[in-house]
Amino acid sequence: MILCQLYIINNPNKLLIGPHTPVSQYMSKAVRREESFSSGKLSLFDVIIVGSGPAGYTAGIYTSRAKLKTLLITGSLPGGQLMTTSEVENYPGFPNGIFGPELMMNMRQQAERFGTVAVDDEVVKVDFRRRPFELSTNAETYKAEAVLVCTGASPRKLGIKGEDSFAGRGVSYCATCDGPFFKGEDIVVVGGGDTALEEATFLTKFGKSVKIVHRRDSLRASKILQDKAFENPKIEFLWHHVVVDIQGNKKVASIVVSDVESGKVRTITAGGLFVAIGHDPNTGIFKGQLELDEKGYIALKSNSATSVEGVFAAGDVHDYRYRQAITAGGFGCMAALDVEKWLVERQHHVNINTSASLYRSE
Ligand code: NAP
Repeated sequence: MILCQLYIINNPNKLLIGPHTPVSQYMSKAVRREESFSSGKLSLFDVIIVGSGPAGYTAGIYTSRAKLKTLLITGSLPGGQLMTTSEVENYPGFPNGIFGPELMMNMRQQAERFGTVAVDDEVVKVDFRRRPFELSTNAETYKAEAVLVCTGASPRKLGIKGEDSFAGRGVSYCATCDGPFFKGEDIVVVGGGDTALEEATFLTKFGKSVKIVHRRDSLRASKILQDKAFENPKIEFLWHHVVVDIQGNKKVASIVVSDVESGKVRTITAGGLFVAIGHDPNTGIFKGQLELDEKGYIALKSNSATSVEGVFAAGDVHDYRYRQAITAGGFGCMAALDVEKWLVERQHHVNINTSASLYRSE
């Protein structure tokens, strides 16, 4: 895992924000916030962002730049799915690519520079029944006027031997992200849904051959994607089979499959295994508090607003269609603007009624 930081970030005094403001000024502001935070002065936040993928960090950049007191609770894997990715080639602005962990560290530093307080902890309980909303980790309970849920989704795993140890070394959960690394390879894709067929078709641009291993003899995918896959000379189907083992040395070299009807086992030569058996949204803690759709994703009402006024959502936690770092970041930006607008409108409403100013931190 490469965590080298950019020269410019390690030398904050060298970088100017706007014509006259050194980054160190922003950093000292962030430190002051940390100090007040630990002394309990900042117990009520304008907004708490839950999750630290591209959606969460992008939202933090926008809300803290808008001078909203922002707490970001990272979750158990700070940086999210991109922390387990090697090179990211399709995130704009990095013509030579960037390593996933480095990209996420940069995003975090950018959010912190403007005052986002990032806490490496996991939210285990929320109470959205009254405002301010309460969010509890195992260590603390935090309060906020608005909440932005950016907890993402996790790819389903096969749960077989070798899957974790070969992750990033031939086992992938995202063809769009990793396909170009498999030029000239024999590739295996597992699954029979839209994702599996779309990814298999995409992978034929790079691979020598693509085998789709599916546990049944009919597909769940839409007819149009099925037709495309059937017509593609590079794609072959292996019906009613499951993957039972992954073999290789430094990287994947072969895949062991088993016939679910006969139990017969065989080994297929392959340099890559793409697991496309669906995603699970990370919404367990929101059940009973926010409206979810039939698949467990957060149901949005208008723009990024959820079923509870003041709670917003962004990224893969509501979007099962695009699931890209750049789209999650875009959703994070949109939701942050919605949060800001909602708080300002509410402040306006509160000012009219009580002359109290609740939301601006400075
Ligand atoms: P999905 O529709 O849930 O399909 C998952 C596939 O994986 C199914 O074929 C399932 O087999 C198989 N599977 C599940 N668990 C497995 C296991 N443990 N071992 C082996 N196989 C397993 O998931 P998806 O394809 O990711 O699609 C998710 C949603 O996104 C769908 O609504 C889809 O329409 C949408 N989507 C749309 C597009 C598009 O419109 N272009 C593209 C991608 C995704 P069974 O069939 O036997 O259950």
